[in-house]
Amino acid sequence: MEFENKFSKVTKSMKSNIIRELLKDAANPNIISFGGGVPDPETFPRNELAEISLKVLKDEYKFTLQYATTEGDNELKKQYIKLLEKHEHIDWLNYDNMLITVGSQQALHLISMVLLDEESYCAVGKPVYLGAANAFKQSFPKFLEIPIKEDGMDLEFFEAKLKELKNKHEIEKLKFVYVVPNFQNPTGVTMSLEKRKKLSELSKEYNFLIVEDDPYGYLRFEGEKLPNIYSMNPERTLLLNTFSKILSPGLRIGIIIGPKELIRQFTIAKQSADLCCPSLTQRIAARYLENHDIIKELEPSLKLYKSKKDTMLEALKVEFENTSKVSWTKPEGGLFIWLTFDESTNTMEMFEIARKKGVLYVPGESFYVNEIEKNHMRLSFCLPSHDEIKEGIRRLRSVVEDYKKVK
Ligand code: PMP
Repeated sequence: MEFENKFSKVTKSMKSNIIRELLKDAANPNIISFGGGVPDPETFPRNELAEISLKVLKDEYKFTLQYATTEGDNELKKQYIKLLEKHEHIDWLNYDNMLITVGSQQALHLISMVLLDEESYCAVGKPVYLGAANAFKQSFPKFLEIPIKEDGMDLEFFEAKLKELKNKHEIEKLKFVYVVPNFQNPTGVTMSLEKRKKLSELSKEYNFLIVEDDPYGYLRFEGEKLPNIYSMNPERTLLLNTFSKILSPGLRIGIIIGPKELIRQFTIAKQSADLCCPSLTQRIAARYLENHDIIKELEPSLKLYKSKKDTMLEALKVEFENTSKVSWTKPEGGLFIWLTFDESTNTMEMFEIARKKGVLYVPGESFYVNEIEKNHMRLSFCLPSHDEIKEGIRRLRSVVEDYKKVK
């Protein structure tokens, strides 16, 4: 049968997640992958999770083996409210300000379904997290790409765009700006406090929402913690959190926090997507939070990530210091370093050489929606060992040298 003419418009527009395609070889033991943003499995508290799983299956089977409500497990929400009170000084939340989602990825998808359509504008970073761009693209909006600087989004540029939209009488079509303020994926860059405040003011002045995606905020291993935008502007901000980087991505638990009218609409959209999140993993996460200071317990993982980040920065210095045409970010947390080569370099073209030499990265062009830049790459330092990081960066230098010869 010919399937093509059966597909919907949205299906025809869909592309496979390029990162997942490119990184298929990552499991090959001869290859060093700086590709996926996956946590080191040694950081998963597997024994505690095994104990809790057994207990909630036996003692709470009427909940854990049953359908849950679409809104999510109130036990989990209760524990999460406590966590936000303690660590973010957010003390006004009720259960109806929160929706439990299948990771933050589902939150991004629901936001796209509920807020965007073809006439809408949404503002995103340039570069932007690929998974968010793909989720938003499903509603065919117009993207405003806002350059990312060392201290986060270029708000002067954004403000000029806002004025343009206002002059064109299209400002109401701007639904939201999407930001990853802490250790952004893919650049590793953090938005300064001044910019957080400024963005919050702009959202009031021009009447748009802020989607604050914060999977990495608790993975800060140096520098000073900054308040989230949600705490400054709860009426207009949707805060997306996830357990993927602080506990385990296998649980597939995320959470949207925001105004209850919006949460209600996301809940209705979620009903038709999957009825509810798995009861079992929600309750496992709830009991884990109840019995553990999850943020305190991240300390050894943060030490590990910091040391791997230092190893990678040092290796980059050793291998690329004398090449003035390469620069890189120096993140204070998270999982990623962003490399920028001279403009004649195309990291997608270079990828085949890298694969042959046994090192993988994510070509930067994956992270742009309108104007594509080809001279960047994203490196993740969390999964390979220290020796692999050093060897991988050595291989990368040789990849760049070979690429320059054939160009
Ligand atoms: N947002 C960002 C910025 C991410 O980097 C990721 C994962 N790489 C996600 C959302 C999705 O994470 P999850 O669905 O596992 O919560």
